[in-house]
Amino acid sequence: MGQRVALLPAVAQFLGREQKLLIGGAWVPAASGETFATLNPATGRPLTQVAQGAAVDIDRAVQAARAAFPAWAALLPAQRERLLHRFADLMEEHKAELAQLETLDNGKPFNVAYNVEVNVAIGQMRYYAGAPTRLTGETYPVSSPGFLVYTRREPLGVCGAITPWNYSLVMATQKIGPALATGNTLVLKPAEQTPLTALRLAELALAAGIPPGVFNVVTGFGDTAGAALTAHPDVNKVAFTGSTDVGRAIVRASAGNLKHVSLELGGKSPLIIFDDADLPAAAEAALWAIFANSGQNCVAGSRLYVQRRVYDTVLGELAARAGRLKVGDGLEPDTSLGPLISQRQLDQVLHFVEQGVAGGGTLVTGGQRPGGDLAGGYFLQPTIFGGVAEDSVIAREEIFGPVLSAFAFDDEADVLPRANHSRYGLAAGVWTNNLSRAHRLAQHLRAGVVWINTYDWFDPAVPFGGVGESGYGRELGSQVMDMYTELKSVWVKL
Ligand code: ADP
Repeated sequence: MGQRVALLPAVAQFLGREQKLLIGGAWVPAASGETFATLNPATGRPLTQVAQGAAVDIDRAVQAARAAFPAWAALLPAQRERLLHRFADLMEEHKAELAQLETLDNGKPFNVAYNVEVNVAIGQMRYYAGAPTRLTGETYPVSSPGFLVYTRREPLGVCGAITPWNYSLVMATQKIGPALATGNTLVLKPAEQTPLTALRLAELALAAGIPPGVFNVVTGFGDTAGAALTAHPDVNKVAFTGSTDVGRAIVRASAGNLKHVSLELGGKSPLIIFDDADLPAAAEAALWAIFANSGQNCVAGSRLYVQRRVYDTVLGELAARAGRLKVGDGLEPDTSLGPLISQRQLDQVLHFVEQGVAGGGTLVTGGQRPGGDLAGGYFLQPTIFGGVAEDSVIAREEIFGPVLSAFAFDDEADVLPRANHSRYGLAAGVWTNNLSRAHRLAQHLRAGVVWINTYDWFDPAVPFGGVGESGYGRELGSQVMDMYTELKSVWVKL
């Protein structure tokens, strides 16, 4: 067994100072002077105080972003590329710091933050750093004589990014990268539960030479700072990742100036295991599909469908594996499941567990809070329900915690409509060795992403987003450039 992760001096220093807002290249307190505490969910204790930005601070940040926009948009593509690569280089140099801040603020295992998430964030920045010189238009073969017609991709102007607390760093780079690469300027409002990595990123962006005002960060609460950003008349686009209800509020708020909106929202994703699959591998995938990040994952495979002949075997295997997962502080070396983000989140998830039991579901494993040393944090054991009614609350609603509902099915025709019976449509997984069946399901599952014989893989080159109440627009991939640019058609009479 290894050692508990020791805090880096740079992290201790960062936590030792009150965190301010980054507006127009200057670190400033909120106009109101108010601050709020960000808590360590493993202990419930404050990590540091953060400026509580509100509408007036958002307005200042938007003005700074507007002022910085013309010069940033006019930079040569290669110059923007160089700055974004330098930013990615600095992220790489400060990788361990970013990972420690993510673990402290969110609770997730340090190994995951360090070995997976920071690398994903850096990969995204590098992918988008290379984008400015690849941002092309097209020419069109019009059916009138004597014309040259082509399109140009032009930046939107000032973008707002509103990010959630579950993968704060990755969600931030996913939006900073394409926004800045396409020549927009940005105001980022990170989740109030996990503001720290966004603030550290902003320090690194400044150090990389990204000009003042191009990337601004306003920390604060959703219904004040967040709402002001989405309603601001001089913001041209809002990119949001978060809950479906807030997504709806953002669409309403965006109507004033008809700003662009892209929404990556909730999910209740099905994972389907057929009896011909590699069952141990499928059980391991199903385990992490739901328990990664303690289930606080928009693509969590929270509805598990197992073909009836192997249902008991797979569920037994899954429960055994879940029982071996170590719940604990993310800084402990053998932790595989950290705490939930907050007392509120824990209470909500426990309420779902109660509803599951009251509705006649069978608790196969978990459902309890661990005691002892962990009593002060927001921990919950990995939880698996069998025998759940398919129209019950826990089978339909996004729980955003380590709670799985498992169902048996007969065959493909039986499972497909059941898997598709959801108002969400973010992700789906299929485990089978039948090639035709795999592709048939990939075609007919109603989801923005389908994983076959794997789950929860991402790459900066691959578009990501949902259908139905999981949102609209796509993140990642080269297609995201469409979401951050206007297409202008130019007609030339030759
Ligand atoms: P959760 O309910 O899991 O905390 P939310 O969707 O509420 O997820 O939060 C995601 C992000 O949206 C956070 O940055 C939060 O501050 C922000 N937010 C919450 N409410 C609003 C709102 N009304 N307008 C804009 N942003 C909001």
